[in-house]
Amino acid sequence: MANSGDYLVEFRTKGSPQRLRDAVKKAPGLFLLNASFRRALRSQHRLRNGLTFMVVVITGTEEITQAHRKAAELALSGGIEFWPHPRRESRAYIHVLDPPSRKKIRTPAPVVEWQGQHDFVLVLARNRSNVPDDLKIIADDVVDLAGPTTRHIKAVRRLLGREPVDDVTAAAIASLNFSALVSAVCRPRVSLEIVQRLAAASRPVAIDPVPRLEDLPGYGSAREWALTFVEDVDRCKRGEMDWSHMDRGVLLYGPPGTGKTLLAQAIARSAGLPLIVASVSGWQSYGHLGNLLEAMRRTFEMAQAQQPAIVFLDEIDAIGDRTRFADNHANYSRQVVNYLLESIDGAGGRQQVIVIGATNYPEAIDAALLRSGRLERHIPIMLPDKDERFEILRFHLCLKEGLEELREIAADLEGWTGADLEMLTREATRIGRRQNRPAELDDVAKSLPPVQELSEESARRIAVHEAGHVVVAHVLSPRSRISVSMRRQFRWIGSESRQRGGTAKYEAPDDDRAVDTRQHLESFICRALAGAAAEEHFLGCRSNGFSGSKGSDLDEATVVATQMVVSYGMSKSLAFLTESRHVTAESTRRLPNSLREEVDRILEEQYSRALSIVAEHAISLDRLATALLEKGTLTADDVDDLIAGHQIAGRNASVVDVLAGDFGRCRGDRIPKG
Ligand code: ADP
Ligand code: ZN
Repeated sequence: MANSGDYLVEFRTKGSPQRLRDAVKKAPGLFLLNASFRRALRSQHRLRNGLTFMVVVITGTEEITQAHRKAAELALSGGIEFWPHPRRESRAYIHVLDPPSRKKIRTPAPVVEWQGQHDFVLVLARNRSNVPDDLKIIADDVVDLAGPTTRHIKAVRRLLGREPVDDVTAAAIASLNFSALVSAVCRPRVSLEIVQRLAAASRPVAIDPVPRLEDLPGYGSAREWALTFVEDVDRCKRGEMDWSHMDRGVLLYGPPGTGKTLLAQAIARSAGLPLIVASVSGWQSYGHLGNLLEAMRRTFEMAQAQQPAIVFLDEIDAIGDRTRFADNHANYSRQVVNYLLESIDGAGGRQQVIVIGATNYPEAIDAALLRSGRLERHIPIMLPDKDERFEILRFHLCLKEGLEELREIAADLEGWTGADLEMLTREATRIGRRQNRPAELDDVAKSLPPVQELSEESARRIAVHEAGHVVVAHVLSPRSRISVSMRRQFRWIGSESRQRGGTAKYEAPDDDRAVDTRQHLESFICRALAGAAAEEHFLGCRSNGFSGSKGSDLDEATVVATQMVVSYGMSKSLAFLTESRHVTAESTRRLPNSLREEVDRILEEQYSRALSIVAEHAISLDRLATALLEKGTLTADDVDDLIAGHQIAGRNASVVDVLAGDFGRCRGDRIPKG
């Protein structure tokens, strides 16, 4: 029965379990729906804290039934145990949006009125496109009505006195669409086969919160791969291609917040495949080994029950690498890795289950997981470039004007991830919402973290640091083309700036060599440490601008030095200990003392070498630093000219002269990494 309209719900201070139990007996569907509402609303902190709220719940169904409305009402009034401060006199207002056509409807004027008249407003809508834009903006949140959990399924069967089901069957039932789900739950007996037949017979659930791949901005070359992947799935579904020719498994890797999860969701949506999401830490939360393995098994069985399907495994690095486990955990962890390998290999008929793994730390993953037939294809997900940043901002906003300005804002947000950008748009949307309108350009500008200008002293330090890299790079490889830039203004996100203080780019004519010699590797380390060496030489001490994080100069130098020792046989020991691609600075920590001393020795030697090069070329370095400080960017030609002793236009006082006054002084200024 289709149903639209408004309802007032009175809160009760206490939930009534008895009332709920009776409801289950009378209407199991209602109980399950109620459970779904409670799940959907549980994360609403405003609701939990008794603050005013307006939440839109997307049912994802063809229609909104009386049962939906009733279940929402029950969730708000009766059984909601997470309602700590109910005001007895409070009433919630439930509005059911059920526009007859699929067209987007215009803003219903009353939205704002509801908010004025009621502290608590719950709006039910069938899908996101039915929700008017303004309502999306005004609402505190738009949430999806995810289905009941396996626990709910089992509980209802118990309450109805039906034969119990195992976890796998319960999970398969939970993945059915709602009407099939209810009928499966109520059957006196139900097996996995029956559930699979029901799944085939019923249409997929129409929950559509995820954008389609085609609509998603960003992702550079990963996007091409994803589009091809979706085309291939289509071909397989049409029988023009065999599933065995699909990639069996894919690893998406890149910094957190670059949208790996979102990409997997969009792929699944565009390919029309169910997505079974799991994460290693999620499995681990089940506790001891047996439960963890069981949870893992369940994930893969669920996928198999629904195949063709995609399994998305987040944080896959958390599973670890068998070669690196400390002894006390070795046995436990080895079993976990082996079990995952087995599951991915799919003992018996996993042809149509594709695994997408995601990680921020690809180097920490067990090599066996990355072999062919497993997560065989490795797709880097990079930080978005300036055009992509613009597209991502635009994607999350509905700006009509000011697009050019938005492009400028995006250009200045180097280093920001998709998640950072989305956060920015959320803040802007909130500002707009307070005035009951969509976000405007001005709101975006206001939501930006404030710009901080570097002190003159810090700017000079960065200039000297970068000039150090340039000079040493030039001395060690005179034919290379080096360009360099620095910035004085930063936007901090939280306690860090994603923007680098300065960047030097090197293009060496001999960069495409097939092997690295010891000399090349030492030069790499020397060049990486040259920024810090220049600071020490000219400013009396180095800052933490070259260290302290992954990707910093010191991290890069340490990794290469460690590779020389443990992988390349370039230290006292000739033994091969581990694959070079597995080496991280973390590996260094775990080396026995004798080998760690070798790493230290290489780093120290190259640091001393960098110190003597910068001392010897102090005059060039001064010229470079001065020009960089003044111009912000030096092209490779500028660099060549300056090193050759020419001055480039507009030169003023020598940095080193100015710095002489600072010599020996070392303030703990926070300098963004350079
Ligand atoms: P990851 O899995 O890489 O840590 P997520 O997929 O969780 O990143 O991304 C977090 C959020 O950031 C997404 O829900 C989305 O809102 C936003 N986001 C990230 N990348 C993009 C993108 N390319 N386009 C639009 N939004 C993005
Ligand atoms: Zn540096």
